[in-house]
Amino acid sequence: MSMDRCAQTPVVGRFAPSPTGPLHLGSLVAAVGSYCLARCRGGRWLVRIEDLDAPRVVPGAADDILRTLEAFGLQWDGEILWQSRRAAHYEAALERLRAKGLVFDCACSRREILASAPHAGEEGAVYPGTCRAGLPPGRRPRALRLRVPRRTLCVADGLMGLQEQHLADAVGDFVLRRADGLFAYQLAVVVDDAASGVNQVVRGADLLGSTPRQFYLCECLDVAPPRYFHLPLALGPDGEKLSKRQGAVSVAQGAAPSVLLRRVLAFLGQPVPPEAAGEKPADLLAWAAAHFDETRIPRRSAVLWI
Ligand code: GLU
Repeated sequence: MSMDRCAQTPVVGRFAPSPTGPLHLGSLVAAVGSYCLARCRGGRWLVRIEDLDAPRVVPGAADDILRTLEAFGLQWDGEILWQSRRAAHYEAALERLRAKGLVFDCACSRREILASAPHAGEEGAVYPGTCRAGLPPGRRPRALRLRVPRRTLCVADGLMGLQEQHLADAVGDFVLRRADGLFAYQLAVVVDDAASGVNQVVRGADLLGSTPRQFYLCECLDVAPPRYFHLPLALGPDGEKLSKRQGAVSVAQGAAPSVLLRRVLAFLGQPVPPEAAGEKPADLLAWAAAHFDETRIPRRSAVLWI
């Protein structure tokens, strides 16, 4: 049993799906993990729909995801936050960063960045700094970027240990508002978590590489960073990372919720003994939250059957 259960500050966790399709297996792991790690500490668990990227939003997907969460007994607290309704908050954050001299206009297209980037960082092409000191003559602003410092950021992850990233070398000055006018995920996530009082972020390890950027944005916006826990990734039956096709399969098409929930809990190192809880998803979750031991969560990706 974790010492953290006695933590003083009430825990506020969250699940933040993107409605680009139905709830898939990887997202279910994040939902169950974030739910149990909040509930086992007597904390609240919020849901935020990350429908920021309108062109990628699939009509009906958000409702479908919410219904699936309910079918799995994953009942959230309070109102759902919809990113598509929060542009004014992202704009305000951008203004604060601008006032600190941390934002600059960038004229570069993706193709130009790929062509001129000296090397690929851990997170793809590193921004080469072309517009950092001002737009080159004759160029029009496209995106807004955040200046990053030349220092290594250290972020403690509750599961994956200390994460170190030299932002300038690994990523470079990153986008806050895209050329199409949409606010970037990195900015929205930090603004929303802070606004909702989220102090515990539990999600898949595929987002580990984004964490230093978010941690740095917290620093720039003077908000306390949450505690991070990055869960192992669920692999497909072939032992490979879930492909687009497998990854997109709705959990609603898989085994019955109680069966799948037991599998997900076992995947997270929290098997529910056959006779311990009823077959209702909510009862399984209640049992899992009451007996949750974060030290048993595996650090490695593993196969998870749908
Ligand atoms: N919306 C992101 C996703 O569905 C998750 C973002 C987060 O948890 O910070 O992958």
